[in-house]
Amino acid sequence: MHITDLPKEVALLKPAWERWYRTNKRRLMKMDREILQLHLAAVAETDCLACGNCCRSLGPMILPNDVDRIAKALCIKASVVIEQHLRTDEDGDRVFRSMPCPFLGDDNYCSIYEDRPKACREYPHTDRKKFYQIFNLSVKNAESCPIVFKVMHKLTAGG
Ligand code: SF4
Ligand code: SF4
Repeated sequence: MHITDLPKEVALLKPAWERWYRTNKRRLMKMDREILQLHLAAVAETDCLACGNCCRSLGPMILPNDVDRIAKALCIKASVVIEQHLRTDEDGDRVFRSMPCPFLGDDNYCSIYEDRPKACREYPHTDRKKFYQIFNLSVKNAESCPIVFKVMHKLTAGG
């Protein structure tokens, strides 16, 4: 399936996913290991460099440690990183001033990959503990991330 088809596919599957969640809510709390296996399989068959959707559209939250790390990587002051690349959003969080991310190359490589923000390192969250807490967020993320889509599709296919 092409990446651009994801929103349409999720719109079709969302009611079934939500039904699955209501029926399996308690079971889901004990499914982290199973979901991790689905995550690893989805990552293995997905080429993030052919996608780059998260770096183009989802503005990650930038923490103070992230600012320091980026500043060090670019050999500039933290205040310059803030001034040149960041803004404060409506929730009071620091995010990139504009998206696509200023560090995303045309080839979808991240120019600060080793020093990328924590939120970037943790995305798409399908390998995290207590996945049940982000089931609804993952329905949303499946609209743009093929990895999340595959995990959600397989997770909910078992009945
Ligand atoms: S910092 Fe790197 S990983 Fe994070 S959004 Fe930008 S390009 Fe993507
Ligand atoms: S949206 Fe998902 S598949 Fe695409 S680059 Fe980001 S993590 Fe990889």
